[in-house]
Amino acid sequence: MLKNQDYIFRNLNGYNSYKLSDARKRGDWSNTKKIIQKGAEWIIEEIKLSGLRGRGGAGFPTGLKWSFIPKKSDLPKYLIINADESEPGTCKDRDVIRYEAHKLLEGCLLSSFALGVKTCYIYIRGEFYNESKILQAAIDEAYQNKLLGKNACNSSWNLDIFLHRGAGAYIAGEETALLESLEGKKAQPRLKPPYPASTGLYGCPTTVNNVETIAAIPDILKKGAIWFSGIGKPNNTGSKIFCISGHINKPCNVEEELGIPLKELIEKYAGGVVGGWNNLLAVIPGGSSVPLINKKIADSVLMDFDSLEEVNSSLGTAGVIVMNKSTNLLKAIARISRFYKKESCGQCTPCREGAGWMWRVMERFVNGEGTLEEIDTLYDVSKEVEGHTICALGDAAAWPIQGLIRHFRPLIEKKIKENNFKNKVA
Ligand code: SF4
Repeated sequence: MLKNQDYIFRNLNGYNSYKLSDARKRGDWSNTKKIIQKGAEWIIEEIKLSGLRGRGGAGFPTGLKWSFIPKKSDLPKYLIINADESEPGTCKDRDVIRYEAHKLLEGCLLSSFALGVKTCYIYIRGEFYNESKILQAAIDEAYQNKLLGKNACNSSWNLDIFLHRGAGAYIAGEETALLESLEGKKAQPRLKPPYPASTGLYGCPTTVNNVETIAAIPDILKKGAIWFSGIGKPNNTGSKIFCISGHINKPCNVEEELGIPLKELIEKYAGGVVGGWNNLLAVIPGGSSVPLINKKIADSVLMDFDSLEEVNSSLGTAGVIVMNKSTNLLKAIARISRFYKKESCGQCTPCREGAGWMWRVMERFVNGEGTLEEIDTLYDVSKEVEGHTICALGDAAAWPIQGLIRHFRPLIEKKIKENNFKNKVA
Protein backbone atom coordinates (compact mmCIF):
# COMPACT_ATOMS: atom_id res chain seq x y z
CA MET A 1 0.00 0.00 0.00
CA LEU A 2 1.24 3.45 -0.95
CA LYS A 3 2.50 5.47 2.02
CA ASN A 4 1.12 8.96 2.53
CA GLN A 5 4.43 10.64 1.70
CA ASP A 6 4.75 8.69 -1.56
CA TYR A 7 1.71 10.03 -3.42
CA ILE A 8 2.61 11.91 -6.59
CA PHE A 9 -0.89 13.17 -7.33
CA ARG A 10 -1.99 14.90 -4.15
CA ASN A 11 -5.01 16.59 -5.65
CA LEU A 12 -6.44 13.73 -7.69
CA ASN A 13 -9.83 14.18 -6.04
CA GLY A 14 -9.92 17.87 -6.88
CA TYR A 15 -10.37 19.08 -3.32
CA ASN A 16 -8.08 22.00 -4.15
CA SER A 17 -7.68 24.08 -7.25
CA TYR A 18 -5.38 23.35 -10.17
CA LYS A 19 -4.18 26.96 -10.04
CA LEU A 20 -0.57 27.91 -9.49
CA SER A 21 -1.00 29.16 -5.92
CA ASP A 22 -2.45 25.80 -4.82
CA ALA A 23 -0.09 23.80 -7.04
CA ARG A 24 2.89 25.50 -5.39
CA LYS A 25 1.57 24.48 -1.96
CA ARG A 26 1.65 20.89 -3.21
CA GLY A 27 5.31 21.28 -4.18
CA ASP A 28 4.94 21.91 -7.91
CA TRP A 29 7.46 24.25 -9.53
CA SER A 30 9.80 23.98 -6.52
CA ASN A 31 13.51 23.44 -7.21
CA THR A 32 12.82 23.22 -10.94
CA LYS A 33 15.80 25.40 -11.79
CA LYS A 34 18.09 23.36 -9.52
CA ILE A 35 17.10 20.15 -11.29
CA ILE A 36 17.76 21.70 -14.70
CA GLN A 37 21.19 22.78 -13.47
CA LYS A 38 22.05 19.13 -12.86
CA GLY A 39 22.04 18.66 -16.65
CA ALA A 40 20.19 16.68 -19.31
CA GLU A 41 22.36 13.56 -18.94
CA TRP A 42 21.64 13.40 -15.22
CA ILE A 43 17.89 13.69 -15.80
CA ILE A 44 17.82 10.93 -18.43
CA GLU A 45 19.96 8.64 -16.26
CA GLU A 46 17.74 9.28 -13.26
CA ILE A 47 14.60 8.42 -15.23
CA LYS A 48 16.29 5.25 -16.52
CA LEU A 49 17.31 4.28 -12.99
CA SER A 50 13.80 4.91 -11.66
CA GLY A 51 12.44 2.17 -13.93
CA LEU A 52 9.49 4.37 -14.94
CA ARG A 53 7.45 2.66 -17.64
CA GLY A 54 5.06 4.61 -19.86
CA ARG A 55 1.63 5.04 -18.31
CA GLY A 56 -0.29 5.30 -21.59
CA GLY A 57 -0.78 1.58 -22.15
CA ALA A 58 2.29 0.00 -23.72
CA GLY A 59 4.49 0.25 -20.60
CA PHE A 60 7.70 0.98 -22.54
CA PRO A 61 10.58 2.22 -20.32
CA THR A 62 10.53 6.02 -20.49
CA GLY A 63 14.26 6.61 -19.99
CA LEU A 64 15.08 4.14 -22.76
CA LYS A 65 12.58 5.84 -25.08
CA TRP A 66 14.20 9.19 -24.36
CA SER A 67 17.66 7.80 -25.12
CA PHE A 68 16.57 7.06 -28.73
CA ILE A 69 16.34 10.80 -29.45
CA PRO A 70 19.58 11.86 -31.18
CA LYS A 71 21.66 14.10 -28.93
CA LYS A 72 22.88 16.18 -31.82
CA SER A 73 20.54 17.13 -34.60
CA ASP A 74 20.36 19.97 -37.10
CA LEU A 75 16.60 19.59 -37.02
CA PRO A 76 14.40 20.85 -34.21
CA LYS A 77 13.26 18.21 -31.72
CA TYR A 78 9.75 17.91 -30.36
CA LEU A 79 8.08 16.57 -27.24
CA ILE A 80 4.45 15.65 -27.73
CA ILE A 81 2.19 14.96 -24.78
CA ASN A 82 -0.48 12.45 -25.63
CA ALA A 83 -3.65 13.66 -23.88
CA ASP A 84 -5.95 11.95 -26.37
CA GLU A 85 -7.28 9.67 -23.66
CA SER A 86 -10.01 7.70 -25.43
CA GLU A 87 -9.73 4.13 -24.17
CA PRO A 88 -13.11 3.12 -22.70
CA GLY A 89 -12.84 2.72 -18.93
CA THR A 90 -9.98 5.20 -18.64
CA CYS A 91 -10.23 8.69 -17.16
CA LYS A 92 -6.93 9.33 -15.36
CA ASP A 93 -5.29 11.86 -17.69
CA ARG A 94 -8.53 13.81 -17.66
CA ASP A 95 -8.26 14.22 -13.88
CA VAL A 96 -4.53 14.96 -13.96
CA ILE A 97 -5.34 17.83 -16.33
CA ARG A 98 -8.35 18.96 -14.31
CA TYR A 99 -6.64 18.99 -10.94
CA GLU A 100 -2.88 18.72 -11.43
CA ALA A 101 -2.28 20.70 -14.63
CA HIS A 102 0.86 22.41 -13.28
CA LYS A 103 2.46 19.09 -12.42
CA LEU A 104 2.12 18.18 -16.10
CA LEU A 105 3.55 21.51 -17.24
CA GLU A 106 6.52 21.25 -14.90
CA GLY A 107 7.08 17.73 -16.23
CA CYS A 108 6.98 19.15 -19.78
CA LEU A 109 9.71 21.65 -18.95
CA LEU A 110 12.01 19.11 -17.26
CA SER A 111 11.49 16.49 -19.97
CA SER A 112 11.93 19.03 -22.79
CA PHE A 113 15.16 20.25 -21.28
CA ALA A 114 16.45 16.67 -20.97
CA LEU A 115 15.59 15.95 -24.60
CA GLY A 116 16.86 19.24 -26.01
CA VAL A 117 13.34 20.27 -26.99
CA LYS A 118 12.24 23.88 -27.27
CA THR A 119 8.74 23.31 -28.58
CA CYS A 120 6.27 21.01 -26.88
CA TYR A 121 2.75 20.21 -28.05
CA ILE A 122 0.00 18.83 -25.87
CA TYR A 123 -2.51 16.97 -28.04
CA ILE A 124 -5.74 16.83 -26.08
CA ARG A 125 -8.81 14.80 -26.94
CA GLY A 126 -11.40 17.04 -28.65
CA GLU A 127 -14.16 15.98 -26.27
CA PHE A 128 -12.11 17.24 -23.30
CA TYR A 129 -13.35 20.78 -23.90
CA ASN A 130 -13.50 21.84 -20.25
CA GLU A 131 -10.11 20.26 -19.58
CA SER A 132 -8.60 22.11 -22.54
CA LYS A 133 -9.83 25.37 -21.02
CA ILE A 134 -8.21 24.49 -17.69
CA LEU A 135 -4.97 23.44 -19.32
CA GLN A 136 -4.77 26.59 -21.43
CA ALA A 137 -5.43 28.70 -18.32
CA ALA A 138 -2.61 26.85 -16.52
CA ILE A 139 -0.27 27.38 -19.50
CA ASP A 140 -1.12 31.10 -19.52
CA GLU A 141 -0.51 31.29 -15.79
CA ALA A 142 2.87 29.58 -16.20
CA TYR A 143 3.89 32.03 -18.93
CA GLN A 144 2.78 35.01 -16.82
CA ASN A 145 4.91 33.76 -13.95
CA LYS A 146 7.90 33.13 -16.25
CA LEU A 147 7.81 29.39 -15.64
CA LEU A 148 7.52 28.81 -19.38
CA GLY A 149 8.69 30.75 -22.41
CA LYS A 150 12.07 32.45 -22.68
CA ASN A 151 14.44 31.64 -19.83
CA ALA A 152 11.80 29.36 -18.29
CA CYS A 153 12.05 29.22 -14.50
CA ASN A 154 15.16 31.40 -14.80
CA SER A 155 16.98 28.33 -16.06
CA SER A 156 18.32 29.79 -19.34
CA TRP A 157 16.21 27.22 -21.21
CA ASN A 158 13.48 28.39 -23.59
CA LEU A 159 10.34 26.34 -23.91
CA ASP A 160 7.06 27.04 -25.65
CA ILE A 161 4.05 24.80 -25.06
CA PHE A 162 1.14 24.71 -27.50
CA LEU A 163 -2.17 23.05 -26.78
CA HIS A 164 -3.85 21.31 -29.72
CA ARG A 165 -7.38 19.91 -29.60
CA GLY A 166 -8.09 16.72 -31.53
CA ALA A 167 -11.29 16.05 -33.43
CA GLY A 168 -12.51 12.95 -31.62
CA ALA A 169 -11.00 9.90 -33.35
CA TYR A 170 -9.89 7.10 -31.00
CA ILE A 171 -7.03 6.19 -33.32
CA ALA A 172 -5.47 9.65 -32.90
CA GLY A 173 -4.21 8.30 -29.56
CA GLU A 174 -1.79 6.03 -31.46
CA GLU A 175 1.40 8.04 -31.44
CA THR A 176 2.08 8.22 -35.18
CA ALA A 177 -1.60 8.85 -36.00
CA LEU A 178 -1.39 11.67 -33.48
CA LEU A 179 1.59 13.12 -35.35
CA GLU A 180 -0.31 12.94 -38.64
CA SER A 181 -3.25 14.71 -37.03
CA LEU A 182 -0.98 17.39 -35.56
CA GLU A 183 0.41 17.97 -39.04
CA GLY A 184 -3.12 18.67 -40.22
CA LYS A 185 -3.72 15.30 -41.89
CA LYS A 186 -6.15 12.44 -41.28
CA ALA A 187 -5.21 10.56 -38.09
CA GLN A 188 -3.84 7.36 -39.63
CA PRO A 189 -0.98 5.40 -38.03
CA ARG A 190 2.32 5.42 -39.92
CA LEU A 191 4.24 2.35 -40.96
CA LYS A 192 7.26 1.86 -38.69
CA PRO A 193 10.23 2.12 -39.10
CA PRO A 194 11.11 4.94 -39.24
CA TYR A 195 10.17 5.59 -35.64
CA PRO A 196 9.26 9.05 -34.29
CA ALA A 197 12.58 9.28 -32.40
CA SER A 198 14.30 9.81 -35.76
CA THR A 199 11.45 10.88 -38.04
CA GLY A 200 8.51 12.23 -36.10
CA LEU A 201 6.62 15.50 -36.27
CA TYR A 202 7.41 17.31 -39.55
CA GLY A 203 10.11 14.66 -40.12
CA CYS A 204 12.04 15.75 -37.01
CA PRO A 205 13.17 13.75 -33.93
CA THR A 206 10.14 13.44 -31.67
CA THR A 207 9.18 11.79 -28.42
CA VAL A 208 5.52 11.12 -27.62
CA ASN A 209 4.72 10.55 -23.94
CA ASN A 210 1.51 10.09 -22.01
CA VAL A 211 0.15 12.74 -19.60
CA GLU A 212 0.55 10.61 -16.47
CA THR A 213 4.12 9.65 -17.43
CA ILE A 214 5.26 13.24 -17.84
CA ALA A 215 3.36 14.45 -14.77
CA ALA A 216 5.33 11.89 -12.68
CA ILE A 217 8.72 13.22 -13.86
CA PRO A 218 9.07 16.18 -11.43
CA ASP A 219 8.49 14.04 -8.32
CA ILE A 220 10.90 11.37 -9.54
CA LEU A 221 13.62 13.96 -10.08
CA LYS A 222 12.94 15.75 -6.81
CA LYS A 223 12.70 12.67 -4.59
CA GLY A 224 15.15 10.55 -6.57
CA ALA A 225 15.18 7.43 -8.70
CA ILE A 226 15.90 5.25 -5.66
CA TRP A 227 12.75 6.50 -3.94
CA PHE A 228 10.61 5.73 -7.01
CA SER A 229 12.16 2.35 -7.71
CA GLY A 230 11.59 1.37 -4.08
CA ILE A 231 7.83 1.52 -4.66
CA GLY A 232 6.04 -1.31 -6.42
CA LYS A 233 7.95 -4.34 -7.72
CA PRO A 234 11.13 -4.86 -9.72
CA ASN A 235 10.47 -3.98 -13.39
CA ASN A 236 7.11 -2.58 -12.27
CA THR A 237 8.20 0.36 -10.19
CA GLY A 238 6.36 3.31 -8.77
CA SER A 239 2.75 4.23 -8.32
CA LYS A 240 -0.01 4.34 -10.93
CA ILE A 241 -3.45 5.85 -11.24
CA PHE A 242 -6.13 3.17 -11.47
CA CYS A 243 -9.57 4.06 -12.87
CA ILE A 244 -12.16 1.74 -11.36
CA SER A 245 -15.62 1.57 -12.94
CA GLY A 246 -18.49 -0.82 -13.60
CA HIS A 247 -20.33 -2.86 -11.01
CA ILE A 248 -18.64 -1.45 -7.95
CA ASN A 249 -20.16 0.69 -5.24
CA LYS A 250 -17.87 3.69 -5.56
CA PRO A 251 -16.34 4.37 -8.98
CA CYS A 252 -13.07 6.25 -8.56
CA ASN A 253 -9.61 7.16 -9.74
CA VAL A 254 -6.98 6.19 -7.20
CA GLU A 255 -3.20 6.27 -7.08
CA GLU A 256 -1.66 3.12 -5.66
CA GLU A 257 1.59 1.25 -5.97
CA LEU A 258 2.03 -1.14 -8.86
CA GLY A 259 1.60 -4.71 -7.73
CA ILE A 260 -1.37 -4.06 -5.44
CA PRO A 261 -3.77 -7.03 -5.46
CA LEU A 262 -6.79 -6.36 -7.69
CA LYS A 263 -9.14 -7.54 -4.94
CA GLU A 264 -7.67 -5.05 -2.47
CA LEU A 265 -7.93 -2.25 -5.01
CA ILE A 266 -11.62 -2.92 -5.61
CA GLU A 267 -12.61 -3.57 -2.02
CA LYS A 268 -10.60 -0.82 -0.40
CA TYR A 269 -11.13 2.05 -2.80
CA ALA A 270 -14.19 1.23 -4.90
CA GLY A 271 -16.45 0.03 -2.10
CA GLY A 272 -16.41 -3.57 -3.35
CA VAL A 273 -18.32 -5.37 -6.09
CA VAL A 274 -22.08 -4.72 -6.20
CA GLY A 275 -23.56 -7.80 -4.52
CA GLY A 276 -20.27 -8.79 -2.88
CA TRP A 277 -17.02 -10.33 -4.11
CA ASN A 278 -18.68 -13.67 -4.82
CA ASN A 279 -21.02 -11.89 -7.23
CA LEU A 280 -18.02 -11.04 -9.43
CA LEU A 281 -18.10 -12.45 -12.96
CA ALA A 282 -15.16 -10.87 -14.78
CA VAL A 283 -12.79 -7.91 -14.81
CA ILE A 284 -11.21 -6.03 -17.68
CA PRO A 285 -8.06 -4.82 -15.91
CA GLY A 286 -6.55 -2.31 -18.33
CA GLY A 287 -9.11 -0.54 -20.52
CA SER A 288 -11.54 -2.16 -22.95
CA SER A 289 -8.85 -3.36 -25.37
CA VAL A 290 -7.25 -5.89 -23.03
CA PRO A 291 -8.45 -9.48 -22.47
CA LEU A 292 -10.80 -9.92 -19.52
CA ILE A 293 -9.97 -12.18 -16.61
CA ASN A 294 -12.36 -14.39 -14.66
CA LYS A 295 -13.07 -14.32 -10.93
CA LYS A 296 -10.61 -17.12 -10.16
CA ILE A 297 -7.76 -15.04 -11.56
CA ALA A 298 -9.15 -11.81 -10.10
CA ASP A 299 -9.04 -13.43 -6.63
CA SER A 300 -5.27 -13.24 -6.51
CA VAL A 301 -3.83 -11.32 -9.47
CA LEU A 302 -1.54 -8.36 -8.83
CA MET A 303 -2.00 -5.12 -10.72
CA ASP A 304 1.26 -4.60 -12.54
CA PHE A 305 2.59 -5.04 -16.07
CA ASP A 306 4.27 -8.43 -15.59
CA SER A 307 1.66 -10.09 -13.36
CA LEU A 308 -1.17 -9.31 -15.78
CA GLU A 309 0.88 -10.49 -18.74
CA GLU A 310 1.40 -13.81 -16.95
CA VAL A 311 -2.38 -14.34 -16.91
CA ASN A 312 -2.73 -13.48 -20.61
CA SER A 313 -4.05 -9.99 -20.02
CA SER A 314 -2.44 -6.57 -19.69
CA LEU A 315 -2.21 -3.57 -17.37
CA GLY A 316 -2.88 -1.31 -20.38
CA THR A 317 -4.13 2.04 -19.14
CA ALA A 318 -5.16 0.55 -15.75
CA GLY A 319 -8.80 1.22 -16.58
CA VAL A 320 -10.37 -1.46 -14.37
CA ILE A 321 -13.88 -2.40 -15.57
CA VAL A 322 -15.67 -4.64 -13.09
CA MET A 323 -18.56 -6.85 -14.23
CA ASN A 324 -20.74 -8.75 -11.80
CA LYS A 325 -23.05 -11.68 -12.50
CA SER A 326 -25.81 -9.39 -13.82
CA THR A 327 -23.66 -8.76 -16.92
CA ASN A 328 -24.55 -10.23 -20.27
CA LEU A 329 -20.91 -10.87 -21.11
CA LEU A 330 -21.55 -11.75 -24.75
CA LYS A 331 -23.36 -8.47 -25.26
CA ALA A 332 -20.62 -6.55 -23.45
CA ILE A 333 -17.87 -7.97 -25.64
CA ALA A 334 -19.97 -7.54 -28.79
CA ARG A 335 -20.38 -3.88 -27.83
CA ILE A 336 -16.62 -3.52 -27.40
CA SER A 337 -16.08 -5.25 -30.77
CA ARG A 338 -18.40 -2.73 -32.39
CA PHE A 339 -16.39 0.11 -30.91
CA TYR A 340 -13.09 -1.11 -32.38
CA LYS A 341 -14.70 -1.90 -35.74
CA LYS A 342 -16.01 1.66 -35.84
CA GLU A 343 -12.69 3.21 -34.83
CA SER A 344 -10.56 1.22 -37.32
CA CYS A 345 -8.90 3.69 -39.69
CA GLY A 346 -9.23 1.16 -42.51
CA GLN A 347 -5.61 1.18 -43.72
CA CYS A 348 -4.86 -2.51 -43.24
CA THR A 349 -7.01 -5.41 -44.33
CA PRO A 350 -6.88 -7.64 -41.20
CA CYS A 351 -8.14 -4.77 -39.05
CA ARG A 352 -10.55 -3.18 -41.53
CA GLU A 353 -12.21 -6.46 -42.55
CA GLY A 354 -11.42 -8.56 -39.47
CA ALA A 355 -12.79 -6.14 -36.86
CA GLY A 356 -16.14 -5.91 -38.66
CA TRP A 357 -16.27 -9.66 -39.28
CA MET A 358 -15.54 -10.46 -35.61
CA TRP A 359 -18.18 -7.98 -34.47
CA ARG A 360 -20.81 -9.52 -36.75
CA VAL A 361 -20.04 -13.04 -35.45
CA MET A 362 -20.23 -11.73 -31.87
CA GLU A 363 -23.66 -10.23 -32.60
CA ARG A 364 -24.83 -13.62 -33.88
CA PHE A 365 -23.51 -15.32 -30.74
CA VAL A 366 -25.43 -12.82 -28.61
CA ASN A 367 -28.60 -14.16 -30.26
CA GLY A 368 -27.45 -17.77 -29.94
CA GLU A 369 -27.04 -18.04 -33.70
CA GLY A 370 -24.11 -19.90 -35.24
CA THR A 371 -22.50 -23.24 -34.56
CA LEU A 372 -20.08 -24.52 -31.94
CA GLU A 373 -17.39 -24.81 -34.64
CA GLU A 374 -17.72 -21.09 -35.31
CA ILE A 375 -16.33 -20.36 -31.85
CA ASP A 376 -13.04 -21.92 -32.98
CA THR A 377 -13.21 -20.04 -36.29
CA LEU A 378 -13.72 -16.76 -34.44
CA TYR A 379 -10.75 -17.50 -32.20
CA ASP A 380 -8.57 -18.44 -35.21
CA VAL A 381 -9.55 -15.26 -37.08
CA SER A 382 -8.79 -13.13 -33.99
CA LYS A 383 -5.32 -14.73 -33.94
CA GLU A 384 -4.83 -13.80 -37.61
CA VAL A 385 -5.74 -10.18 -36.87
CA GLU A 386 -3.55 -9.96 -33.75
CA GLY A 387 -0.03 -8.81 -34.56
CA HIS A 388 -0.66 -8.53 -38.30
CA THR A 389 -1.59 -4.88 -38.54
CA ILE A 390 0.14 -1.50 -38.72
CA CYS A 391 -0.89 -0.48 -35.22
CA ALA A 392 -2.24 -2.03 -32.04
CA LEU A 393 -5.89 -1.42 -32.87
CA GLY A 394 -5.92 -4.83 -34.56
CA ASP A 395 -4.87 -6.38 -31.24
CA ALA A 396 -7.45 -4.25 -29.43
CA ALA A 397 -10.19 -5.70 -31.63
CA ALA A 398 -8.94 -9.27 -31.15
CA TRP A 399 -8.03 -9.44 -27.45
CA PRO A 400 -11.45 -8.91 -25.81
CA ILE A 401 -12.83 -11.77 -27.95
CA GLN A 402 -9.89 -14.02 -27.12
CA GLY A 403 -10.42 -13.31 -23.40
CA LEU A 404 -14.09 -14.17 -23.69
CA ILE A 405 -13.46 -17.47 -25.48
CA ARG A 406 -10.56 -18.38 -23.18
CA HIS A 407 -12.55 -17.96 -19.97
CA PHE A 408 -16.22 -18.09 -20.90
CA ARG A 409 -16.53 -20.45 -23.84
CA PRO A 410 -19.29 -22.45 -22.03
CA LEU A 411 -21.44 -19.28 -21.97
CA ILE A 412 -21.33 -19.02 -25.77
CA GLU A 413 -21.94 -22.74 -26.18
CA LYS A 414 -24.92 -22.58 -23.82
CA LYS A 415 -26.47 -19.72 -25.75
CA ILE A 416 -26.05 -21.55 -29.08
CA LYS A 417 -27.43 -24.82 -27.69
CA GLU A 418 -30.44 -23.09 -26.12
CA ASN A 419 -31.21 -21.36 -29.40
CA ASN A 420 -30.86 -24.59 -31.39
CA PHE A 421 -33.22 -26.35 -28.96
CA LYS A 422 -35.75 -23.50 -29.24
CA ASN A 423 -35.64 -23.69 -33.05
CA LYS A 424 -36.13 -27.47 -32.99
CA VAL A 425 -39.12 -27.22 -30.67
CA ALA A 426 -40.62 -24.48 -32.83
FE1 SF4 B 1 -5.76 1.48 -39.10
FE2 SF4 B 1 -6.55 -0.72 -37.84
FE3 SF4 B 1 -4.44 -0.79 -39.39
FE4 SF4 B 1 -4.33 0.53 -37.06
S1 SF4 B 1 -4.61 -1.67 -37.31
S2 SF4 B 1 -3.55 1.20 -39.02
S3 SF4 B 1 -6.46 1.31 -36.99
S4 SF4 B 1 -6.55 -0.37 -40.04
